[in-house]
Amino acid sequence: MSTTNQRAFNFNAGPSALPLEVLQIAEKQLINFNNTGMSVMELSHRSKDFEQVHNEAIARLRQLYAVPDNYEVIFLQGGASLQFSMIPMNFLQSGEQADYILTGVWSEKALAEAKLFGAPVAVASTKDNHYKNIPSVHQINFNDAAAYVHLTSNNTIYGTQWKDFPTTIAPLIADMSSDILSKPIDVSKFALIYAGAQKNLGPSGVTVVIIRKDLLEKAHNNIPTTLKYSTFTENNSLYNTPPTFGIYMLGEVLKWVEKQGGLEKIATHNEAKAKLIYDAIDGSNGFYIGHAEKESRSLMNITFRLADEELEKQFLAEAKAAGFVGLNGHRSVGGCRASTYNAVPYETCKALADFMHAFQAKH
Ligand code: PMP
Repeated sequence: MSTTNQRAFNFNAGPSALPLEVLQIAEKQLINFNNTGMSVMELSHRSKDFEQVHNEAIARLRQLYAVPDNYEVIFLQGGASLQFSMIPMNFLQSGEQADYILTGVWSEKALAEAKLFGAPVAVASTKDNHYKNIPSVHQINFNDAAAYVHLTSNNTIYGTQWKDFPTTIAPLIADMSSDILSKPIDVSKFALIYAGAQKNLGPSGVTVVIIRKDLLEKAHNNIPTTLKYSTFTENNSLYNTPPTFGIYMLGEVLKWVEKQGGLEKIATHNEAKAKLIYDAIDGSNGFYIGHAEKESRSLMNITFRLADEELEKQFLAEAKAAGFVGLNGHRSVGGCRASTYNAVPYETCKALADFMHAFQAKH
């Protein structure tokens, strides 16, 4: 806990830290939003007040990413995991190939869902290297006739991240759940981008999808209404009741990103934050061992181990006692992980780097 404002040193992987300023705005507006005498949670999703919140959030996202006009931006529910199913359900038919690039458990899960609908192929996998790296694009044999190519832009569990995306003939689809809004990207490289909100965008419960209209037109029709992308694009994401409070929070997070100076500034800030912790790893003479290969390192999730397993347990216990939250690695891989999403302050990362130096000096 930092003493000045009682905020934890929060390195949770998601749900994760939100900007303090955003939480303060939400607190102020919680019981009387915009002089309505109601909380945002109490507004009708068809009211003018909510409609403005909703449309402004979409407009802000479009502007921050310079989303071209031939794309729709929609809000869905069901988390990123539902996208694993919705994508093949909408775009993959029995016998049709889709290319999946496996860089971790989340891409494996996406592939498993696609197998229920068509004939997806893992065109690349770094599993044999314990998912320590992102594959080299030149070594991937894409099938140009595939229905689409699927990749995970940032691997939350292993701490790896794509730096440059492949240029593919088949429509490129990316799960950006854990690095959306962390840096500028060229949306026009992708046919579909999706992300659960609970890392860089806001609270859990909202999923953002950016989808190119020509892909949308290729979707199959024999799908349940609420699992069809067109249901949401044709109804401005208001076919049924959306997660209104989550969308409101997302809108406030987007305003905060604008106030920070936009995505270029956010990216520079994220680089500086991650450097503090990677430097503590690299300068430790093997006391701390990074999981990801250097060229594939994530600026969002920093994964490492201690050379000695007993000492690792002690590190995590002492870090917890010192007020650091969320430093345990994912249950599937163990070790340590610091998630340094947009809202994690520089000072919090500095505090962790200082703690790492001090712990090493002591042991
Ligand atoms: N993809 C990635 C990259 C993730 O990190 C996660 C969750 N941490 C998921 C998908 C699954 O997201 P959800 O829990 O929103 O279904």
